[in-house]
Amino acid sequence: MGLYSFEPTHDYAQILDQNDQLAAYRNEFYLKPNSIYLDGNSLGLLSKRAEKALLDCVNDWKERGIDGWMQGDHPWFYLSEKLGALCAPLVGGLPEEVIVTGSTTVNLHQLVATFYKPEGNRTKILADELTFPSDIYALQSQLRIHGHDPEPHLLRVKSRDGRFLEEKDIIDAMTEEVALIILPTVLYRSGQILNMERLTKEAHDRGILIGFDGCHSIGAIPHSFSDWDVDFAYWCSYKHLNGGPGAVAGLYVNRKHFGTLPGLAGWFGSKKEHQFDMEHTFFPAESAGAYQIGTPHLLSVAPLIGSLEMFGEAGIGNIRTKSLLMTQYLMELVKHELNGLGFSIGSPMDEVRRGGHVSLEHAEAARICKALKENGVIPDFRAPNIIRLAPVALYTSYCEVWQAVQILKKIMSEKQYEKFKNEREVVA
Ligand SMILES: *Cc1c(COP(=O)(O)O)cnc(C)c1O
Repeated sequence: MGLYSFEPTHDYAQILDQNDQLAAYRNEFYLKPNSIYLDGNSLGLLSKRAEKALLDCVNDWKERGIDGWMQGDHPWFYLSEKLGALCAPLVGGLPEEVIVTGSTTVNLHQLVATFYKPEGNRTKILADELTFPSDIYALQSQLRIHGHDPEPHLLRVKSRDGRFLEEKDIIDAMTEEVALIILPTVLYRSGQILNMERLTKEAHDRGILIGFDGCHSIGAIPHSFSDWDVDFAYWCSYKHLNGGPGAVAGLYVNRKHFGTLPGLAGWFGSKKEHQFDMEHTFFPAESAGAYQIGTPHLLSVAPLIGSLEMFGEAGIGNIRTKSLLMTQYLMELVKHELNGLGFSIGSPMDEVRRGGHVSLEHAEAARICKALKENGVIPDFRAPNIIRLAPVALYTSYCEVWQAVQILKKIMSEKQYEKFKNEREVVA
């Protein structure tokens, strides 16, 4: 691992590309000519295999009608379980501990409805002040459903510097009043990875359940949820997993919790063989499948057949190795080429703590992003001052990373950003 002899030259980028074991996957994606896509951490690109899987699903509907549930190459009735099993190696779970279902926010609601059991003085939920807003809204509403005022009941660990969280500060907040902890695996702005193994152990030592939001880590870094004894987790499929806009999400429930009744039950959580008994007695599946609610959104599930097949082939270990090299290379280039131009790197340099994207902080970030887009580089902006850049192992080349930094350098030296307003678009 590591950049043995970093050089800021284009030749060096070409050497890295020539030695890239995953280079062939780039041809499997739809990449726009003259465009460098560095936003795969917000919406992953379409692959040919995902497209084919979606079209095959439409065709099954066209040709089979209702029989698509039990016939064809991928019978719809078992597809959520089948894809859960394909996700399992990505999160380090057993096949039956993972299910493809719902959306990130819905799955969070489901898991909190299932595992938040306030008792006596243990009524609080612990989260953090840097987490994604939807998670906070969901937690606040779950507290209200239980008749608790979210103000005193939702604890948010503070960041010391606005970028990172210290595990020690989180552990210090694990008091006897905490019933449940919800944390990100990777912080969506800075890309910091939390030490999930350590946090899970500390939580369990204090009798607290812990769950993780894996939106920014699934498909980018390996996990060992079962070995770490994590209670549950949930994630989306449209970022690093390339499942398409609004793709059906996923969740993990540790097998020790099988049998815990779902907080939000529905007939797709039934044991498969009982579901069509149409009885009013609910027989929940003895697997993560129990936490499904209703009929899966199959047209938003299907692309994952193609996409997850690629993850299985490429291997999450190889993806992580390349991703780390790319983010390191990007940061080296930024330090070398953009020195003195007002940028700071807001992501961890340490490989153990660095996720799949790099965030650059700059006072003019909003309009620098607009100038990047005008020059064919697609980043994303997170208010107030963050430019997120995600070189994606399956489809970004080192030459593109090099090119993107050169373009950024030109934008800065020519002050091209000055012709834009320094405010975000509606969707940033
Ligand atoms: C992307 C993301 C979400 C989005 O939730 P949806 O229900 O898919 O809209 C939630 N949490 C985190 C941490 C995210 O990164």
